[in-house]
Amino acid sequence: MHGERRAYLEAIGIDLWVPRAAPAAQPAAQLPVEPAGKAVEAAGRWEALRAEVLKCTRCPLHLTRTQGVFGVGPKRSDWLVIGEAPGAEEDRRGEPFVGAAGQLLDAMLRAIGLDRATNVYIANVLKSRPPGNRDPKPEEVAACLPYLVRQIELLKPKIMLAVGRIAAQNLLATDVPLGRLRGRVHHFGELNTPLVVTYHPAYLLRTPADKRKAWEDLKFARNLYHQLVPGK
Ligand code: SF4
Repeated sequence: MHGERRAYLEAIGIDLWVPRAAPAAQPAAQLPVEPAGKAVEAAGRWEALRAEVLKCTRCPLHLTRTQGVFGVGPKRSDWLVIGEAPGAEEDRRGEPFVGAAGQLLDAMLRAIGLDRATNVYIANVLKSRPPGNRDPKPEEVAACLPYLVRQIELLKPKIMLAVGRIAAQNLLATDVPLGRLRGRVHHFGELNTPLVVTYHPAYLLRTPADKRKAWEDLKFARNLYHQLVPGK
């Protein structure tokens, strides 16, 4: 079995009847060098946007959140992963996808050579936690989505991965079930960024039988990326 696949399947908890071996090292994608002036300007725009989110009162969720959760990862990543909204742990720590679901997401991403420290940016559709982890209301999504759109304008990702039904349906403005959104290439926004859909790691923790389908989605996304950016 391919080392990378084995590493993923072991990381997400699918048992294998094969000897264990060290996971294959995944090379981090090389980031392009940017002129210093442009980089400083981009950093300023990111910081301004982040500050705006952290003091945002556009929707009632600001009344119940501990803090806004802006996003995490290098600002020139080719990959953008988008989830639904912060949960309790994210609300407390100010970072998306921490806790058990975050650890599973990290393992999934590592299996295709991605790491939030080096080459993937992670954000949510909503920046503030809905109380009790209820589904976001349409008016909350409408209020918050422009922040994500601005993040995308700054990041200019080559590929987006929407994890979970809420993220996928809101980004694609559809009520088609997640199962029918998987396995094909969608496009998002004015930049027409290619977008692939997969399951939310919190769902996979509850429904381990679908982890193999998630792995198919990740391979699909990785292959698409290699087609879009040959040589990486
Ligand atoms: S969810 Fe978005 S729009 Fe609502 S308060 Fe938080 S940052 Fe503002």
